[in-house]
Amino acid sequence: MKEKILLTAEEIEARVGQLAEQITEDFKNEEVILIPLLRGGFIFAADLCRKLPMPVVLDFITTSSYGSGKASSGEVKLIQDLREDITDKNVLIVDDICDSGHTLKSIRDLLHSRGPRSLKTCVILDKKERREVEITPDYIGFSIPDVFIVGYGLNYGRLHRNKPYIYTYIE
Ligand code: 5GP
Ligand code: MG
Repeated sequence: MKEKILLTAEEIEARVGQLAEQITEDFKNEEVILIPLLRGGFIFAADLCRKLPMPVVLDFITTSSYGSGKASSGEVKLIQDLREDITDKNVLIVDDICDSGHTLKSIRDLLHSRGPRSLKTCVILDKKERREVEITPDYIGFSIPDVFIVGYGLNYGRLHRNKPYIYTYIE
């Protein structure tokens, strides 16, 4: 197995800080319900939420579209739904990466149907050239080329999520 680092822990931390500043400015100290998509979004969301000064409520959605391989099936399964009622609340969906866009779009559409006051999306990584549906996340950490990467929440099989940096994984 060969690892090639794409983004170091320091680079990620600095960028998460900038995103937090931008979000802080936009939300004007209003309460926000932060919704990491599990499992991939949990590391980024944990770092991001600790840099936000406004009142933050955390709730979680678990989706699955990938199975254990490297290619998305395009079909997004809702494995576990929210516990919070988001009607008339400010909502920020947080995920690891926007790739084909199916996951973010289907969850955004689902939450939109529940009548939030505002609804935004945030990802640490964006692979724009892979998009199959129309969605542009409101907050993007890094735009990256079409390479399969792991670390910082992202997995291959059941492993690699815990690494503090982002790297390409070649078997
Ligand atoms: P999408 O629905 O946008 O195609 O993909 C969403 C999910 O696919 C992400 O949340 C992530 O779990 C997974 N994914 C997409 N690209 C990659 C990648 O390069 N590496 C890994 N490990 N997962 C990815
Ligand atoms: Mg994911």
